[in-house]
Amino acid sequence: TARLKQGLAKTRNQLGNQLASIFGGGKIDAEVYEELETILLTSDVGINATQHLLDDIKGRVKRQSLDDTVQLKAALKDALSDLLSPLEQPLATSKHQPFIIMLAGVNGAGKTTTIGKLAKQFQSEGKSVLIAAGDTFRAAAREQLQVWGERNNVHVVAQTSGDPAAVMFDAINSARAKNIDIVLADTAGRLPTQMHLMDEIAKVKRVMDKALPGAPHEVLLVLDANTGQNAVSQVKIFDDALGVTGLVLSKLDGTAKGGVIAAIAQARPIPIRYIGIGEAIDDLRPFNANEFIDAMLD
Ligand code: GDP
Repeated sequence: TARLKQGLAKTRNQLGNQLASIFGGGKIDAEVYEELETILLTSDVGINATQHLLDDIKGRVKRQSLDDTVQLKAALKDALSDLLSPLEQPLATSKHQPFIIMLAGVNGAGKTTTIGKLAKQFQSEGKSVLIAAGDTFRAAAREQLQVWGERNNVHVVAQTSGDPAAVMFDAINSARAKNIDIVLADTAGRLPTQMHLMDEIAKVKRVMDKALPGAPHEVLLVLDANTGQNAVSQVKIFDDALGVTGLVLSKLDGTAKGGVIAAIAQARPIPIRYIGIGEAIDDLRPFNANEFIDAMLD
C-alpha cells in the first residue's frame, strides 16, 4: 500500500489536501457542502458522481446525526466505498482455456504497456501466454509487440497483410493447438476523434467469436486517467460498441485526476480489473476499492 500511496500522490495532494481543509472541525452547514462540491468537481469526480456522493453523504449525516466536519471524512469514504467496492472484481481466467482477452482503447491509453505487463504477470503465475498483434493500422505497434515478445519469450502472432480478422483467427487457432492459457489480443487504437471507426473493432470481436464460440471472454478497455472526463465518454462509446467487461485505469501516477474513477463508476458500473501506477511490471495491480480510497484521501 506504500507503493499505491506513492502512485496516487498527485491525486492525494490535490483532492486529499483540499478536503483536509474542510474536514478540520466545525459545524456541518450548507457552506461546507458547497465547498465539498467544488473540491469534488475540480478533482474530476464529475457532475453526476459528485451529486450522487453529496446526496449519499447528506443521508449519512442525517441517519447518523453527524454534526462535526471531522466526521464528514468517514462519510465521504463510506460513500465512495459503496460506489467503488462493487467494481472490485479481479479478472478470473481459469474458466476457459484458452482464455481470450481483447484489449481496446484510444491510441496512447497504455494498451501495449498493459499487454506487456499482463503477459509477464500471467507467465510468473505459470500460465502460457500468446499475444495477437491485432493493431494492423499501425505497423509500429505490431513491430513493438514482436520485439517485446522475442525479448520476453512470448509468442506473438502478427501479419503484414493488414487484416485484423485474420490475425485473430490465426492467434486463436494457434493458441488452441498449443494449449495456451491466455491470449492477449491487441486491437487498433483509435484517436478520440475516430470513434466512428468503432464498427471495425466490433467486427473483430465477432470474428473472435466465430473462431472460438464465446470468445472474447473479456473485453478490457484501457483508459488514461490523465484524460479526466474524456475517459468517461470513452467508456460509454466503447461499451456501447463492444460490451466492455472490464476496465484498466492507467497512468494514475502521472495525474491529479484520480477522482475520475468515481465518475467512471457512476457512468458505467463496469468492473475495474486493474489500475496502472507506474512503469514497472508490478505497477499494474488489481483494483482494491478501499485501499484506493485510503491512498487517495489519507
Ligand atoms: P498504446 O498506444 O495504448 O499502446 O499506449 P502505450 O502502451 O504505448 O503507452 C503510452 C505511454 O504511456 C508509454 O510511454 C507508456 O510507458 C506510458 N504508460 C502506460 N501505462 C502507464 C502507467 O501506468 N504509468 C505511467 N507513468 N506511464 C504509463
